[in-house]
Amino acid sequence: MPKFWFAESDPFAPINYRYKVNKRLFSKKSPYQHVKVFEHDFFGRILTIDDVVQLTERDEFFYHEMLAHVPLHMHPAPKKALIIGGGDGGTLREVLRHPTIEKAVLIDIDALVIETSKRFFPQVAVGFKSPKATVLNMDGAKYMRETSERFDVVLIDSTDPVGPAKTLSTQDFFKTAASILTPNGLFAMQTESLHYHMAFINQVQAYLGKVFPSLGLYAAPLATYAGNYWSFSIASKAKVKSWNPVRSSVPKTRIYCEEVHRNAFVPQKVRDCFTDIGSGPYRRKP
Ligand code: SAM
Repeated sequence: MPKFWFAESDPFAPINYRYKVNKRLFSKKSPYQHVKVFEHDFFGRILTIDDVVQLTERDEFFYHEMLAHVPLHMHPAPKKALIIGGGDGGTLREVLRHPTIEKAVLIDIDALVIETSKRFFPQVAVGFKSPKATVLNMDGAKYMRETSERFDVVLIDSTDPVGPAKTLSTQDFFKTAASILTPNGLFAMQTESLHYHMAFINQVQAYLGKVFPSLGLYAAPLATYAGNYWSFSIASKAKVKSWNPVRSSVPKTRIYCEEVHRNAFVPQKVRDCFTDIGSGPYRRKP
């Protein structure tokens, strides 16, 4: 069967990857975005939204485990978790590994992403079957403003901060996130690449710093996101002395463990270096 190139069209990154794929398995537009699935020899199935890779079967666990388990292992007994975005179900799957979780609410604006993941990525979407999962399709910012529920952990697993995801990185959004957390609740959000999006990371961190007393930045290596050195911003409603885990790892994780957790936090020197080099066009310093 002839292979063909799928080229990413990522408005938020200075480079775009292309993949020699075997076939396109699915393509459909929702009112929000264009969802596609491809098959690739090395990466397995690939989910794209508006021609930006969201996950591949091969490396999705790096992202989902690190987004979910770092904050969850900083809470002694998380009972209620909120996931904003995350329609593929990977973060939900990881949240549900914690035996103390009684309820996991997932708010993704787009039902098509959930349907597509259930059909083409059943091992990622497995958590949707759980009686502990509640799923709503609406804007995550609106849900957070309107809910009277309180959560031990809030996780933002969104697309790049363009289009529908724009509402998920404003100062008001972070204020609302803090207001729906329990007193020692944790917040974590994917904040793009250290190489390419340091200005975005610094802006999110500045907003978070206005509403949370403790704030951290950790990272994970992702094969398929432009920039690869992927960042996650974490914030705590109570002041924390360290970002180390407070209990041992849940079983069956592939990349997450206590040692990986401890070493994931980005040293200040590295942050300063990326801030110094900047996120805009490169100009050699005199
Ligand atoms: N890990 C991925 C990445 O960084 O590429 C994110 C994957 S997940 C599929 C992102 C989800 O965020 C999408 O399903 C999209 O529908 C959802 N999303 C975007 N904006 C949203 C919003 N305002 N409220 C709720 N969900 C949103």
